[in-house]
Amino acid sequence: MSAAAYTRKVIIRRSLAPASLSKPRPRADSGVESGKLEAVHTMLDRGLTPQLKGPDEEQRSLLDARLSRVDRGVLLWAEAQGVRLQVLQSGEELDATGALRDLTGKFEQRLKPDTVEKLHEHLQPLTERIRAEKDPDKALSLRRQKRNQLAELLTLNPCGAAVFTPAFAPILAPGISSLSADPGETPTLKAMAMYHGADSPEEQAQFFSWMESLNGERLAQARQATVEEKSRMLASRPEALQAWLRQAEEHPELVPLDVTAHTLVVPDAHYLGANSREQTMLLDRSDLVSVEGWRNGDFRGQWFFLEGKTNLLIRDSAVELDTPVHELGHVIDMTLEKDAPQFYGSLRPRIEKAHYQARLNGNAITSYAMANRREYIAEGFAAFYETPAELRKIDPELFGLVEEMVEFCCRQAGADRVLDQKLQKMWKDAVATAPGEPAALRAQLEQQVQTCPKADGLSSTAMAAALGASRLGLLAGAADVALGLLPALASPGPGLADPVQQAYREGLDAEGQRRLFDLAYQSGRGLLLA
Ligand SMILES: [Zn+2]
Repeated sequence: MSAAAYTRKVIIRRSLAPASLSKPRPRADSGVESGKLEAVHTMLDRGLTPQLKGPDEEQRSLLDARLSRVDRGVLLWAEAQGVRLQVLQSGEELDATGALRDLTGKFEQRLKPDTVEKLHEHLQPLTERIRAEKDPDKALSLRRQKRNQLAELLTLNPCGAAVFTPAFAPILAPGISSLSADPGETPTLKAMAMYHGADSPEEQAQFFSWMESLNGERLAQARQATVEEKSRMLASRPEALQAWLRQAEEHPELVPLDVTAHTLVVPDAHYLGANSREQTMLLDRSDLVSVEGWRNGDFRGQWFFLEGKTNLLIRDSAVELDTPVHELGHVIDMTLEKDAPQFYGSLRPRIEKAHYQARLNGNAITSYAMANRREYIAEGFAAFYETPAELRKIDPELFGLVEEMVEFCCRQAGADRVLDQKLQKMWKDAVATAPGEPAALRAQLEQQVQTCPKADGLSSTAMAAALGASRLGLLAGAADVALGLLPALASPGPGLADPVQQAYREGLDAEGQRRLFDLAYQSGRGLLLA
């Protein structure tokens, strides 16, 4: 709202404050805090889905308490980014948040066989060495080397494919997790499909067709290699060989495949069985790992980017921990990197260097901060608000980096951090010295109104003048409620507005003056409405 003016004229029409007004106390959402909590509540409301219970009153107030430690500008900025804040209650599944990307019917668009083809060409020399290597130990080492290289290449070149990763077997299909994680293993197409949760014949057929599309000739070659090897092994037992060959022809999906000698990649698509949902979902591995992490309790919080929106998830048991602030740190880190490349580009080498140094010197703020540069920033962000003095002492470099990010967000949100802190202090001081009783408030108001137009009642020093004026704002707001005069005060005008402006002149710029009076005014209302 705009600066409120209080005029002599309106004070005449007095109606006593309702008797039910108890002793005023500042509410958490009054004054300088109001923008913050509104931002948090907007993000929470935005995060509600029909499948989620949503946070209860207690969880909401715990989140308010945690997140209100964060700068107003950062919260306003996060709110403006469309962040959806969600609390996952125990028993609720991750897919209820709407944060997962269901690839059903869309996965084909991710398939880029041409890209896969180029990667294979790149790896061809290594593939040939593996085939020629006679020493099994050396061959195994080369296969590992190739798998790692392929995994890295696929990460850098998204094409709907992943390296066949038995490490995920326990996640994907508990029933066949006994398959070994040895890179020399020879799984079948069907086993791969089941690893990916393809239970029905339709799902398996779809999976096989993606395998064909991604691997083309290489799949046929891998199959042929097995046939040839089997033919050599069973050369002395023609009947057994015939039976095997017949089965291989009828069921090519059951032919064992050497997935490293032939560099097969698998579709990065996993069927998530229907539980509460009506249908199966198709997820990429990253989302699937998240589903499992929330199911088995590994995750306390997480964020997701989906179609221009960010979901910030907190487990019910973590709303009172520093998790919400930590996750918000991730959101800010990732969003700045994505949306403010110039700013982030100058920061990134310094983040990497500071992270490296912290690991080297063993002075990371937490052990988790050592994990990678993302966690380094998120842990730094949490510490910046939870234990700032400690962070400044232990890892001053990280403190400075987080501060720059925070200030950048504040500027983007049109909030001046230094001014905010000044206002907050003044507001607290004003509230601390405000009279507790409505009657006393009114008496002080009347006195202020008497003295204010002359501006004599305010101290000449800038801070004291500003503080005095913020008290005046408090009183004006309180009186506004007590006297039922809100409409008359909606816009600045002659009367108190002038002396207030004058009182602020030395201490704050015009915007600061306006905001402080605004905040104090609203706080005054908050005091009486509490
Ligand atoms: Zn984290």
